[in-house]
Amino acid sequence: RESWASDSSDSVISSGSDSDSNLYKVILLGEHGVGKTSLARIFGGVEDCSDAEEAGNTYNRSIIVDGEEASLIVFDIWDQWLQNHCMKMGDAYIIVYSVTDKVSFEKASELRIQLRRARQTEDIPIILVGNKSDLVRSREVSVDEGRACAVVFDCKFIETSAALHHNVKDLFEGIVRQIRLRKDSKED
Ligand code: GDP
Repeated sequence: RESWASDSSDSVISSGSDSDSNLYKVILLGEHGVGKTSLARIFGGVEDCSDAEEAGNTYNRSIIVDGEEASLIVFDIWDQWLQNHCMKMGDAYIIVYSVTDKVSFEKASELRIQLRRARQTEDIPIILVGNKSDLVRSREVSVDEGRACAVVFDCKFIETSAALHHNVKDLFEGIVRQIRLRKDSKED
């Protein structure tokens, strides 16, 4: 079982810090029930404490990626907020579907298109996530289909299991790397 906190405790610098220069807003998009909240809570390190105080739907945390600190504010607000607003406010997006739900996969493509429309001129970092990879027997979307979709939509792809904590750390590190790649190419 992969645990973000225990296998890399030194990567957690602070909670709730707002050192602004490296503060990135990451928005989770996707159908209801695909696992957005579960992923966000693992990122925030709160998912195992059922009696922990709910911090709302945003999770602020600093992590070290490739030796450099980055602060992410992860927004799990897609189901509640004005969706138009979500499409405009993010520095990066995580589009989640469930590998056990073909409809959520089709919805992910729609979201990618909506996002492209809302942010036409920008090259925003996006990772397409096939979650619930642990549910092998009820899988409806293959890894290859997920990967192919990401190629078409020109974004990164990863399969995760929030239930097993599998690849969740890689997902959030990946989004930081994607943000940095674009930032660096802009500065050149
Ligand atoms: P959201 O509506 O997208 O925020 O989805 P939630 O995070 O609330 O998850 C919906 C349901 O799916 C909950 O019952 C979760 O426990 C379950 N779930 C989320 N991620 C996984 C996963 O990776 N594997 C399994 N087996 N269940 C998951």
